[in-house]
Amino acid sequence: MSHDTVSQGTLFIVSAPSGAGKTSLVRELIESLDGIQVSVSHTTRAKREGEVDGVNYHFVTVDRFEAMIAEGAFFEYAKVFDNYYGTSCQAAQTLLDAGQDVILEIDWQGARQVRERMPEAVSIFILPPSRDELERRLSGRGTDEHAVIARRMRDAVSEMSHFDEYDYLVINDDFTTALEELQALVVSQRLRCETMHSRHAPLLAALLSQQPRVE
Ligand code: GDP
Ligand code: ADP
Ligand code: 5GP
Repeated sequence: MSHDTVSQGTLFIVSAPSGAGKTSLVRELIESLDGIQVSVSHTTRAKREGEVDGVNYHFVTVDRFEAMIAEGAFFEYAKVFDNYYGTSCQAAQTLLDAGQDVILEIDWQGARQVRERMPEAVSIFILPPSRDELERRLSGRGTDEHAVIARRMRDAVSEMSHFDEYDYLVINDDFTTALEELQALVVSQRLRCETMHSRHAPLLAALLSQQPRVE
């Protein structure tokens, strides 16, 4: 994905500590709005029960991931919890070129790389309402072993310490409220003057045309 590509869609970065509700919120967000999709990342972590290759992630080996790094296939990648995670250039660019808004669910290290390459990306950080609630959600999700949860809780504080690098903060206390806040952010981005300008160029040209109206 190149910086100078002219694309109509907006790139949204969504980060959060594991368990804050990012995946559930993003899933509902793309179901509730047209024209927005989530980019499917590559990862070397093991597949959780219920996850589908190519839908939740492209699950690959470390060797394959490292080969893709060498080929320059990633727009951004990072090591999170000892596993590689990355957005392939292809995953996001195809959607942006089709005029779709695209969400990258990535960690703070990846977010930094994306901001450098695409400063116009809009970044959102999702926070849990408390540490206790974060732990409850991680355990309640029932997808990870105790040791994995303990590791993710430890890493949550360092992930959250990067909140001020983001454009917007959403606190996921009441799920519906947090979802409405995310919807508002996407819709307001779509109404920005420069976005409207490129999406409604013919209308604006017609409205501003100097041709006299036929009475
Ligand atoms: P979950 O967030 O608890 O559901 O756990 P995951 O194992 O799915 O993701 C763990 C972390 O990896 C999260 O903080 C994600 O934001 C991050 N992550 C997922 N995909 C990517 C990616 O493509 N790039 C980067 N940099 N981080 C990613
Ligand atoms: P993440 O992708 O950030 O790791 P998930 O979307 O997997 O988080 O959410 C973690 C768990 O918390 C899931 O079991 C989800 O159903 C639950 N959850 C998400 N948002 C809320 C909320 N506002 N209130 C209560 N539980 C929530
Ligand atoms: P699932 O149970 O389908 O694996 O994933 C989590 C689902 O729980 C999401 O689709 C999300 O809609 C829902 N969810 C999680 N927490 C809440 C909550 O507090 N309120 C509501 N209304 N839905 C929630």
